[in-house]
Amino acid sequence: MNTSILMRHSGIWVNELQYESYKIDGIVVGDSISFSNLKAAIAAELDIDVSRKEIEIRYIVEGQIYKDKATLVDVMTKYKIKNNFNCKVKRCGQQSYVLVCFSDKCGWTMKASCRKKSDIFIVRNFNSEHTCPMRKRVLTKVQATE
Ligand SMILES: [Zn+2]
Repeated sequence: MNTSILMRHSGIWVNELQYESYKIDGIVVGDSISFSNLKAAIAAELDIDVSRKEIEIRYIVEGQIYKDKATLVDVMTKYKIKNNFNCKVKRCGQQSYVLVCFSDKCGWTMKASCRKKSDIFIVRNFNSEHTCPMRKRVLTKVQATE
């Protein structure tokens, strides 16, 4: 099993739930990865020389937390632009936000729901691996329609 990690980095912590001016990347790691290997994988992805720079990692195992749905939508929009693919909204309500790949057969999904009695949105499931051959075709289509 692999775990998808959506990273927000190079930004500023305002408080525990508020992180601003960040960039977005995603990596996929094995379930049994050690913390030091995870740190190395993140550093490699972000092109950080750990012998000269310290990186601080804050993470949530349960799911990634966003202060409200608008923030999550913003993050996912930036994520799909960066990764050159298109996804569609499967469900979008006050309680939940579900994205799937444009290809119905693809395994790419992002499921988030609201924490009870709050604005906070938690990503419950994020599978960032496309099983479809859409990547290139979707990109062409998006560019053609814009
Ligand atoms: Zn896909």
